[in-house]
Amino acid sequence: MNAVSSARAMLDPAQVPLTVLSGVGARTAEKLAARGIGSLQDLWLLLPRQYEDRTRLTPMRDLRPGMPAQVEATVEAVERGFRYRPMLKVAIGDGSGGTLVLRFFHFRAAQVAQFAVGVRLRAFGTPRPGQHGLEIVHPSYRVLGDAEVALDDQLEPVYPQVEGVGPAVVRRLVRQALERLPGDDALELLPAALRDGMPSLRAALLEVHRPAPDADLGALSAGQHPAQQRLAIEELLAHHLSLRRQRIALQQHRAPACAGPGALVERLLDTLPFALTGAQQRVFAQIRDDLRHPRPMLRLVQGDVGSGKTVVAALAALLAVEAGHQVALMAPTELLAEQHLVNLSGWLQPLGIEVAWLAGKVAGKARVRALEAIADGRARVVVGTHALMQEGVRFHRLGLAIVDEQHRFGVHQRLALRDKGAEGGLVPHQLVMTATPIPRTLAMSAYADLDVSAIDELPPGRTPVQTVVLSAERRSALIERIRAACAEGRQAYWVCTLIDDSDEIVAQAAQTTFELLQAALPGVRVGLVHGRMKAAEKQAVMRAFKDGSLDLLVATTVIEVGVDVPNASLMIVENAERLGLAQLHQLRGRVGRGANASSCVLLYQSPLSALAKQRLATMRETSDGFLIAERDLALRGPGELLGTRQTGIASFRVADLLRDAGLLPRVHVMAERLQADAPDAADRLVERWVGGASRFASA
Ligand code: ADP
Ligand code: MG
Repeated sequence: MNAVSSARAMLDPAQVPLTVLSGVGARTAEKLAARGIGSLQDLWLLLPRQYEDRTRLTPMRDLRPGMPAQVEATVEAVERGFRYRPMLKVAIGDGSGGTLVLRFFHFRAAQVAQFAVGVRLRAFGTPRPGQHGLEIVHPSYRVLGDAEVALDDQLEPVYPQVEGVGPAVVRRLVRQALERLPGDDALELLPAALRDGMPSLRAALLEVHRPAPDADLGALSAGQHPAQQRLAIEELLAHHLSLRRQRIALQQHRAPACAGPGALVERLLDTLPFALTGAQQRVFAQIRDDLRHPRPMLRLVQGDVGSGKTVVAALAALLAVEAGHQVALMAPTELLAEQHLVNLSGWLQPLGIEVAWLAGKVAGKARVRALEAIADGRARVVVGTHALMQEGVRFHRLGLAIVDEQHRFGVHQRLALRDKGAEGGLVPHQLVMTATPIPRTLAMSAYADLDVSAIDELPPGRTPVQTVVLSAERRSALIERIRAACAEGRQAYWVCTLIDDSDEIVAQAAQTTFELLQAALPGVRVGLVHGRMKAAEKQAVMRAFKDGSLDLLVATTVIEVGVDVPNASLMIVENAERLGLAQLHQLRGRVGRGANASSCVLLYQSPLSALAKQRLATMRETSDGFLIAERDLALRGPGELLGTRQTGIASFRVADLLRDAGLLPRVHVMAERLQADAPDAADRLVERWVGGASRFASA
């Protein structure tokens, strides 16, 4: 930081550390920092998740299930139970004709003593139907003495939890921080012409933190209040500007133009046993057009599982090779990288193109040989894992970097591969492939720096997969089904999953299942593959399954991506309720690749939550990856779907891509105008909202 900017930081209240607030010592500051809250500005932007209306009392006869309310009443009866777990029930009445039970599962002895019959109290919470009429579980409440206690005169904001800092403290700190909110002149970055009827930032922040008692609580709860939208627009705008800059920065570089006649492409197309689908042709044409120019391509190819992305990547590689450049293809797992190696070698070696292999496990002489072939350019195409980015690797005129399943890498890894290949003022073109269909709204925001192509058509002859959802208690019937399928010469996967567990525990579970199935299915040849096995072992098992010498493959989710065995037509997924829909979709994509009618059995542990039921029903109802991704997004939120850390997009503080997608067109127009009319304000806006994440801005 230079002297001027550090002076600005000191004057800028947004950068003032939290220790200036009363009640914030080193420990609290540390807890807040762990949540990413380090300055006054972070507190201004910590928005309430919801609001509680304690400005009025609801007579108990008017309580409605699901509608939060505040009541004032007298304790009529108290019951304390211990049968299964501690429980405290307090029945209260207010003479309006209703009764209400306050129910506690954790409580202190002192609390019990408070609730004597006849004591008056005020309680707030959401009533739900209980055994004896409505009840509120763990209400917030206060015991009233004889004195009058005034009702609140404002809606009470409920802030996101900060571990180790109580809600009352968070509320107080936000209130203090807001007292230091600068005036409009100092705070506002959007010119009036762009604001166009929207409240100022200051007004919006104050309204969101302290809405008036008559504010539209419905709109606030739904995030649709004009003040919230004002903030969301500003945040989306900042992100959009930041991504735009990355793109502009990238276009300052030059890349090798690959504009040959495409003789190698023609030769590969001639030897393929199939014709490209229309979608493959279209996407390849787009890539070809990009590569022709000396401007770096940065293109994301989305294509559902099995849509045939690999062959498109191979064709793109041939264009670069023809122009005298090297091509690197990086995949996130060894298994997937191996599949690519097999495919690419099969297609390219007959054309006289050497394909090198580099993964972490390639060691000793083999590694030295591979590194030499890569460095001197004999290897025209290099396939591998993260190992491609290691220090000893020297590319030779790298012209195209292909990254498969980008969402499993970070943005920075993609950039690292590109930077590694930069040579003589040129950077390689980048092609990113993903089978995790990203809903359009997300793609626009998360990947605004990429051009996006979609292979939105499957090769002909695929049979739809029938999906069945089954309780794990029916396992034995299932084993019968596997026996029958294998007797007909079909092959099956049994996928073991556990969530949040180490590789090792999952591997163990797979081992146990493997032994059980082997015992239950004499005559069926069962194999096992998991992440803890040596690469060579894994490969040998996969090969045996692929060439038909195994009937049933017990696997962990290592097979999620890339495994291609057309004869496999039955898949069982254990603990399906614990997996994300996108992941289930990936897994299911391993079957339905051949001519046989295929099925996928999703096993779950009862009882299923309502949400889990809905999600499994989605899997049963559709095999459209985009639809599944949209539903997944709606059910789980974008953070989980994309894994914000993995994609390198900072998570949003205010905006919600699904909810606020409708704002994007307006945001894009505003971005153009702000960048043109007030580039300095645009800089500060990016700094305010994206901050550290703009380290990618130099990309
Ligand atoms: P993904 O998009 O999931 O990576 P792959 O590239 O692995 O899909 O392709 C899946 C399978 O479909 C492969 O066996 C591939 O050879 C085959 N394939 C690709 N394109 C076509 C096509 N146009 N017609 C028939 N089969 C194809
Ligand atoms: Mg693939």
